[in-house]
Amino acid sequence: MTTPKYKRVMLKLSGEALAGKNGYGFDFEVVQRIAQEIKELVEMGVQVGAVVGGGNIWRGRYGAGMDRTTADYMGMLATCINAMALQNILENMGVVTRVQTAIEMREIAEPFIRRKAVRHLEKGRVVIFAAGTGNPYFSTDTAAALRAAEICAEVILLAKNVDGVYDSDPNLNPNAQKFDKLTFQEVLERDLKVMDSTATSLCKDNNIPIIVFGLNTPGNIKRAVCGDMVGTLVSNS
Ligand code: UDP
Repeated sequence: MTTPKYKRVMLKLSGEALAGKNGYGFDFEVVQRIAQEIKELVEMGVQVGAVVGGGNIWRGRYGAGMDRTTADYMGMLATCINAMALQNILENMGVVTRVQTAIEMREIAEPFIRRKAVRHLEKGRVVIFAAGTGNPYFSTDTAAALRAAEICAEVILLAKNVDGVYDSDPNLNPNAQKFDKLTFQEVLERDLKVMDSTATSLCKDNNIPIIVFGLNTPGNIKRAVCGDMVGTLVSNS
């Protein structure tokens, strides 16, 4: 249980996950717990990159009547607010971190520089990647897939409010069936809502497995990293 299966991981935290039961903004108890779990990974010697979403503050699609690009840039800024919150909580726990942003804001964080990010990881620093991919029309899931490929992460840990991938929405259908394992091809063919199709294709083409699991069960991040069966594993085989 305490031997990590992966040496370098990419943790994707949706904005929703940071909001906890509040649905908006932060549930600091939840963020604190996530930070504690990240700290445990670092102490186990696992190199941790994290991409944070922004949905607890703003999503491009909330901007009805606005132009899409402006609304999307607002979403990217929301991810930076989340990154700073997570960074601060981690550092208060004694975890060394760096935030790297896909849109330059040098007074606040480093710009994304792949080689620097890898160096930080090698030194045991948690690197939080903010501002998504830096481009409108993308999602932070795609940013997680892209950054995972760039830093050669072995797996993406997709922490959600649901405990895996189902054949239909478990909040709407009480008979929804959870999958233990799926291939990317199945996800795309069945149009299962694991990640958006851009992110799924990127993971498929670059052979980066994803573990989709629920954050509601404490200790799940560590379990996933240690190779225990949690949630749903999506891979090419
Ligand atoms: N976004 C974007 N490009 C990116 C990443 C994010 O335009 O590369 C914008 C998009 O508007 C998105 C918002 O930022 O709705 C917040 O990200 P996301 O919805 O992926 O956050 P999550 O659902 O994970 O909380």
